[in-house]
Amino acid sequence: MQKIGAHVSAAGGAQNAPLNAKLEKCETFQFFVSSPRTFQFKQPTTEQIAEFKANCEAGGFTDTYVHASYLINLASTNNKTRHGSISLLRKGLDACALLGVTGMMFHTGSAKDYENKADGIKQAAASINKVLDGYKGKTKLLIENAAGAGSTIGMNFTEVGELMKLVDKKYTKHLGVCLDTQHSFASGYDWRTKAGTDAAVKEFDKKIGLDNLVVIQYNDSKTECGSNKDRHEHIADGNMGLQAAKNILGHPKLKNYSFCLETEPEGRAKDIKTLKTIRQK
Ligand SMILES: [Zn+2]
Repeated sequence: MQKIGAHVSAAGGAQNAPLNAKLEKCETFQFFVSSPRTFQFKQPTTEQIAEFKANCEAGGFTDTYVHASYLINLASTNNKTRHGSISLLRKGLDACALLGVTGMMFHTGSAKDYENKADGIKQAAASINKVLDGYKGKTKLLIENAAGAGSTIGMNFTEVGELMKLVDKKYTKHLGVCLDTQHSFASGYDWRTKAGTDAAVKEFDKKIGLDNLVVIQYNDSKTECGSNKDRHEHIADGNMGLQAAKNILGHPKLKNYSFCLETEPEGRAKDIKTLKTIRQK
């Protein structure tokens, strides 16, 4: 069955995320393990880790996710930013592995420092190799597709696929993809029609491989298809509309995935309800 959840608060510590998820009637969830707006990483304590696991078990959560810091830029030509990003991702991944989290998604960054975007993608892949060097945990590092503002890397399935192919083969078992529906809509994938949905899923499979898809972040869009703007909206209130949700959740190839909402807490209860009504059981 498709699971429906949301990005929930972990204020006070990771152990609170599953409790908040339960209160929100989530069946899966994602959270920030450390503040997303700083390069400082706050390691969860041994007690918090044990409590997180106990609360997940009590709440019946079998797959959970963490969203990495927004400051990550694996392609930055500024050594401090790039190395800081690599180190922060690795710390996050190690903490996630201790927590038993399924996957940690991150925004690859921008190729604005490069004349050719391909060089930025190459640098990002080299950085991913560094993040995964010596990593033995079970949590997967998830590349999230971008809306495509500026020179962001991963703005379409071709770029995400290229990035994955450039990562050292010995690390690919630790790598996966998180599909954000709003970002993909903003970068031109039109989920509003069945034909558009079929074409997008087909392209994802061809360029990335559906076996690499780990989780879907379900968000509607404040902006139009192809706007390249990252602006989430409550389900059915945006430009994607209810039909896009029906097309995506109803797609036979997307039957076995978990869906995490990243909409504003106010009004999210309705989003969760809506997705639960239309999902495949
Ligand atoms: Zn994201």
